Amino acid sequence: MRPDANGNDPTEEENLSPDPISAGAALKAARTGAGWLNTFVRARKYIKRHDRLALRAYEDLLEWVKGERAAQQERLAQVDAEIEDDCYYSEKHVELQADARKLSAERWRAKKRDAERLVEDLGDRENSVHALVRRLSRRPWPPSNPYSSDTDALVANWECGVQPREVPPAPPAFQELAEASRRLGRLYEQAAALPDPGDTPSFCANRLWYHRVKPLVVELAGYEAQNPKLRTTRAYDIAYQTIYKALPDCRNCGELGMADLGELFPGEDWENSD
Ligand SMILES: [Zn+2]
Repeated sequence: MRPDANGNDPTEEENLSPDPISAGAALKAARTGAGWLNTFVRARKYIKRHDRLALRAYEDLLEWVKGERAAQQERLAQVDAEIEDDCYYSEKHVELQADARKLSAERWRAKKRDAERLVEDLGDRENSVHALVRRLSRRPWPPSNPYSSDTDALVANWECGVQPREVPPAPPAFQELAEASRRLGRLYEQAAALPDPGDTPSFCANRLWYHRVKPLVVELAGYEAQNPKLRTTRAYDIAYQTIYKALPDCRNCGELGMADLGELFPGEDWENSD
């Protein structure tokens, strides 16, 4: 049975009637021995029911988030499908993605507020007797949300927007190149900070690499480089590998990643085979 708008479950309400117990009535009942036990049992049933309703609210919220993300993904898919290759993950692309999230983010805020109020209202219906029974039965209010980490992960882009990744220090060989070319150093930082937003249907590191990043690397390192210190094959190899590896991994892009190749040929050692 689903709770009504006030979080009441009509069948359970009948079983528990008359409740909530007023503190005065509970005291009166407690003066008679059987009355005390009866009060305790009723209050315990009452708080268990509230815990159940709160857990249901948490679970419903997670289900709602999943549904909303699916609807949002269609809008994000549209954005990704329409973006030109040379604008893939450019500022413009990222802005269009953020716009596609806006509606869902607003709906999420309203939905979260409703769920918080529902739990708050349940808590308001408990009195000092319930609080005592909660302490004795070690059932703190509100109950902890077993779905919170799942929910938090799915709503992060609505709550704080897509956040840049933390940039790890580049390998020493690359750092030497970056000292000679600050633009190359910045390019690494941009590649390493760029996040896969996670809520789009896919992400392709190679699309980003070939259309937007590689041309810049070619300009800065290797035989086309203006800076003579970087005009070597070694400089190009180091720059290429460091910056390419710094990009987020491909996800659902339809290409075979290294992990997939490993699964297809589990016996192969890709690092050492000639
Ligand atoms: Zn890819």
